[in-house]
Amino acid sequence: MRLSRYFLPVLKETPSEAQIASHRLMLRAGMIKQQSAGIYSWLPLGYRVLRRIEQIVHEEQARAGHIAMLMPTIQSADLWRESGRYDAYGPEMLRIRDRHDRDMLFGPTNEEMITDIFRSHVSSYRDLPMTLYHIQWKFRDEVRPRFGVMRGREFLMKDGYNFDLTYEDAMHAYNRHLVSYLRTYERMGLQAIPMRAESGPIGGDDTHEFLVLAETGESEVFYDSEITELTFGARRIDYDDHAQCRAVLEEFTSRYARTDDTHDEAEFEAQVPQERRRRARGIEVGQIFYFGTKYSEPMGATVVDPDGNRVPVHMGSHGIGVSRLLGAIIEASHDDRGIIWPEGVTPFHVGIVNLKQGDEAADLACEQLYAAVTEAGLEPLYDDTDERAGAKFATMDLIGLPWRITVGPRGLKNGVVELTSRRTGESEEMPPDQAVTRLAQIYAGKL
Ligand code: ATP
Ligand code: MG
Repeated sequence: MRLSRYFLPVLKETPSEAQIASHRLMLRAGMIKQQSAGIYSWLPLGYRVLRRIEQIVHEEQARAGHIAMLMPTIQSADLWRESGRYDAYGPEMLRIRDRHDRDMLFGPTNEEMITDIFRSHVSSYRDLPMTLYHIQWKFRDEVRPRFGVMRGREFLMKDGYNFDLTYEDAMHAYNRHLVSYLRTYERMGLQAIPMRAESGPIGGDDTHEFLVLAETGESEVFYDSEITELTFGARRIDYDDHAQCRAVLEEFTSRYARTDDTHDEAEFEAQVPQERRRRARGIEVGQIFYFGTKYSEPMGATVVDPDGNRVPVHMGSHGIGVSRLLGAIIEASHDDRGIIWPEGVTPFHVGIVNLKQGDEAADLACEQLYAAVTEAGLEPLYDDTDERAGAKFATMDLIGLPWRITVGPRGLKNGVVELTSRRTGESEEMPPDQAVTRLAQIYAGKL
């Protein structure tokens, strides 16, 4: 992409309504525009990151054997009356009436709808286990939408639902989701810690929330500091292997880590030596639930088991806050000058800055770099505008591309350009083709 032909409405001033860094930076970098409280347009740069996050979620869901689909945003109230949640959900649900006076709603989640789909088409244990998911817009009429996309009213969520014959199988689905979520967040450059939590309106017995530690997080968390040393890394997982998934779950959840609603100070003190006890704040980026037959029973989602009996299926649901993740990643990765995107989610892989637009040699070298980077399967953002060098650097720093290649007449006389890391600020001079090779190496395995 050439900046001169792109739509990147960066703001010079810091917007006064934004209280936290991620919200400020998303507005300043021209990623989002608020349309009304908690409802945002995704401008081109923000939309690129949103799509990258979605892509990682899709890839990791596929790896775990889960099946993608898409359900509508508007749902019929009748479905929710069947589960009893139409009245129970309260004012967070946006209720709509259509021209025929039918009660509709903008879905805050999809347990009822997926259960309805299941009961319409599945009737034998032979079709199980099955996990279906989608990535779709949700609406929750939050009392206090704030912090930009972090707590929106309209937001994008990945929500998945498992259907299993037995409790044991459903527990495997739970464990499998926990493992696949660990991998998903790590690919986004995040450490998201699974913590025991309370289930809220989804209901159920077992649940973990995934929290990214950040001072601006809305949840209070208590944990054993040893947890932060765990990484998923490059381990290979067979998602069908119950014992293997359970072992990873145990590794990541055996130490004390809880949100404030399940925290117990006495247990904390008994289980964790004082020097490892941490009390901090975190951003909830996902949650997994096992809720058994809570929906399948009242809604009649049953299968015939191997003995010929009709039994309600065991279910769970699993959510990732796709749009909230942009805020969480920025909270975890920024500095005074702007965003620092992890390689896995960056909107462009490298920025090309031409220090002297109009200089024949510099223009030509930039064009060649642009072609070579593209050829290597990466997406460059080439600042081909007439701005001063300082302004070009400031924009690149603000929008946070992890790598920058700087091209100027002086360097070119010696046959070199400069490759700069946004994170460390370190620069290295090298011939242009070497810069491209280096970038290809950096991104190998990260995309
Ligand atoms: P919260 O406690 O933050 O209100 P929740 O527990 O009600 O969230 P879930 O039903 O668990 O939310 O939804 C799954 C994920 O969707 C959450 O972990 C979170 O990342 C995201 N999410 C929930 N509400 C919002 C919101 N208002 N804006 C953006 N993302 C949200
Ligand atoms: Mg939650």
